[in-house]
Amino acid sequence: MIPKVSRPKGRRVIPLEVRANERVSPSFTRVTFGGDALDGFTGHGGDHAVRLFFPRTGQNGLWLPSLRNDGWMAETLLQPTSRRPWVRTFTVRDHRPDLRELDIEFALHGDAGPASAWASRARPGDPAGIIGEGRTYLPPDDADRQLLVGDESALPAILSILSSAPHTLTGHAFLEVPRTADIRTGIPCPAGVELHWLPRDGSDTIPGTLALETVRAHPDLGAPAYAWVAGESKLATGVRRHLTGERRMAKKHIGFYGYWRHGRASVG
Ligand SMILES: Cc1cc2nc3c(=O)[nH]c(=O)nc-3n(C[C@H](O)[C@H](O)[C@H](O)COP(=O)(O)OP(=O)(O)OC[C@H]3O[C@@H](n4cnc5c(N)ncnc54)[C@H](O)[C@@H]3O)c2cc1C
Repeated sequence: MIPKVSRPKGRRVIPLEVRANERVSPSFTRVTFGGDALDGFTGHGGDHAVRLFFPRTGQNGLWLPSLRNDGWMAETLLQPTSRRPWVRTFTVRDHRPDLRELDIEFALHGDAGPASAWASRARPGDPAGIIGEGRTYLPPDDADRQLLVGDESALPAILSILSSAPHTLTGHAFLEVPRTADIRTGIPCPAGVELHWLPRDGSDTIPGTLALETVRAHPDLGAPAYAWVAGESKLATGVRRHLTGERRMAKKHIGFYGYWRHGRASVG
């Protein structure tokens, strides 16, 4: 499954440090990163993502690749694990160029994931790095009715998309989260977009299953002109298959991205 990505040009690795770490709700923590090297970084909003570099347990400091654009991954994977950092992909939830800061919101899923473990303990001064990744939420200008679907890993992207959407946008957003206490209130969102919060609340279904079933069962999605779905791989492919099959949407009007795969660690 290869998503259509709009990648920034002239990508470079940017060294940063943690400035703050705030628990937003039981399953989410927001880490603020800052540094002078953020000068010149362009945050594109929406689902704009970055690769995040952070140290493995026991490493002193953080090694970062020196190659720009696409060479960095090979350079990183060639390092011995004593030096090689972890690399994972996250959404830029907020970017404050004047303060040379950006925020990432991590969905915490326990210590089995290095990024989840690192984020739950990150402290001001901890080293990190990023390289810009790009966007897959690419609606046509006239797509004034949309469908957005995600599990907790895509919540930061969908909230960011909604906060910068035109006030005339209408449609539905299905947001699956681990618990009722993870539901956000007072978020910026166009009045014509109906938010469907879907807390699993102790059910041990694989994340994304509830959102997929809810979208499939919805009686009337109102013929969206564009749909974007991200999260666990089966959610992304399942919603796309449903929309192209039962709802007769054209593939070119659907952006989808399997952010992670149940039972499989990310590469890097
Ligand atoms: C473009 C893009 C943007 C993303 N933005 C965000 C974001 O803003 N916030 C965010 O939290 N995630 C985001 N993700 C998803 C994130 O990259 C993955 O969840 C990643 O696997 C987390 O790394 P990890 O080291 O914690 O776990 P890994 O080492 O990759 O995986 C370890 C185990 O945990 C499982 N796992 C991974 N992620 C989750 C999860 N969310 N819930 C439950 N189990 C999981 C895996 O299946 C595996 O069994 C994004 C992914 C992409 C591709």
